[in-house]
Parts: sequence; structure tokens; C-alpha cells
Amino acid sequence: MKCILSVDVEDWFHILNLRTAPGIDQWTALPSRVEGNFRRLLDLFSGAGVSATCFFLGWIARRFPHLVREAQERGHEVASHGLEHRLVYEMTPDEFLADAKASRAILEDITGNAVQGYRGSGFSVTEATPWFFERLAEAGYRYDSSVFPARRAHGGLATPHLSPYRIHTAAGWLTEFPISVTTIFGKRVCFSGGGYLRLFPLSFIRRMTCRVLSEGRPVVFYIHPREIDPLQPHLPMGLGRKFKTYVNLKTTEAKLRQLLADFEMVSFRDFVAQSGMLPDVLVTNSAQAESDQIGL
Ligand SMILES: [Zn+2]
Repeated sequence: MKCILSVDVEDWFHILNLRTAPGIDQWTALPSRVEGNFRRLLDLFSGAGVSATCFFLGWIARRFPHLVREAQERGHEVASHGLEHRLVYEMTPDEFLADAKASRAILEDITGNAVQGYRGSGFSVTEATPWFFERLAEAGYRYDSSVFPARRAHGGLATPHLSPYRIHTAAGWLTEFPISVTTIFGKRVCFSGGGYLRLFPLSFIRRMTCRVLSEGRPVVFYIHPREIDPLQPHLPMGLGRKFKTYVNLKTTEAKLRQLLADFEMVSFRDFVAQSGMLPDVLVTNSAQAESDQIGL
């Protein structure tokens, strides 16, 4: 069983659910750091001979189309992180559909290839968005990696499915790759991305990765370009949030380099091509139906 490597390509100011975070009307005026940080990640991946899935925010792709082309030319999969980084549960189904379609169109225009994958901002698919999978299929996507099957600040979805599975919706089939969790003292814990990856020691991440792989599940790693950038400007926020947002920015690049050396990692596209059919799970298109089966 292999690990899956993914990047959510956005800038240092794309912080969710924060009163002091700049609104979209201010983004263009801010000093961007995504080019340098994303290229450092690409160099890290090249050094390890690994190809990743790059979930580009449509806003970033429109402003820096050369980054999308560079990812494609270096053998990575280009996928979508939505257009404007809005939380899924704060959009109406129609707004979500428009956002998901627009970002896909921008990326397909730049790459000339079909974009198949989607990841929502902040893994914000919840019991409040039972329409999510159907709208995503309607927008033309074939797979998703937005389900976070544990508690978290911007969502989390109670689902019994911890391995990749296929979902049937009225608009077609979708494959879901939930973010990897493992159970510790009866609680589901994520260890392979974002603040969890920065916070936990390498030895713990290695151990949990081996555990999940031995259970026959891939480990989905995810990182943002800003997470290897200790020089980024810091937004004003409370102490707890500050810790989660900025902890271990100096050590994450080295940790990632080691993980890339220790484990075999591939993009979602290559994982699907190499693993063949995934189990069909008829969960209809209702997140609510799933959440009735199990508590978080
Ligand atoms: Zn994001």
C-alpha cells in the first residue's frame, strides 16, 4: 500500500475562520509568497523523485498560471481547491456548484487537460452539506479528498468509511479519499497534514503511517506552501490559534524530506491508475445518511 502526497496551493493569508484575515478584495494588494514556497516544495518532490497532486485555488491559478504549468511540466497532477477559498458549508448548493465549475474551467484552460480532483477549503464538508457530492459530480469532478473523518475546527464529517470508496450520486460516480485518521485512546486522530504534520514528532508520524498502511489503507499527506515558510507575515490572532497556525514552520521542510525518503508516495491520479477499482459504497449522495450511522 502506498501513501498519497498532496499540496493545497494557496498563499500565507488564506487562513479560514479568522476575523483578522484579509478579505478577497484585499488579496491582490498583499505581498505574495506562494511562488517561492511552492517551488521549494516542487524541488523537494523532484529531489525525492515523487509526483504529487496539486490542488490549486482558482484565484491563485488565475494570478500565477505559470505555477500551474510548472507543476504540470514537472509531472504532477493539477487538481482544484475551489475558486475563492470559501467554506463549503457557508455556500448555497448553487454557489458551490458555480465556484467548483469556475475553478475547474480555469485549470483546464491553463493545462489543456481534464481536471478530475477536488478538495474543499478547510475540509468543510459536514452534515450540513448533504448536497456536496452530487454537486461536485455535476461540476465534472471524478474524485474528492475533502472528507475529514474526525473533529476539526472547520467541519469534519462523521463517516464509517476510512478507506477510499466510491459514491453514487444522481449526477454520477465519485471516488472519495478521506483524510487519514487512526484511533488513539478511542479518538480519531489525524497525523499526516497541516498543523498535525507540523506539530507531531517525526517518529510518531512514521509509526502512525506504518499502522495505517498495515491496515490496508493509503495515508493521505497534505501540506500548504506556507507551512515551510518561517518568514511569512503573521496575522493577528489568539494564542491557541497562533500556535496551531505557526507551530514548527522551521522544521517542517526537513520532516517532509525525511517522510518522502521513508515512504513511497504518489499522486491521487497515479494511485487510482495503479490500484484499479475501489470498493463501491452506496451512500446515495447524503452525508446525513452516513452521519446517522456513527458518531465522531
Ligand atoms: Zn485551503
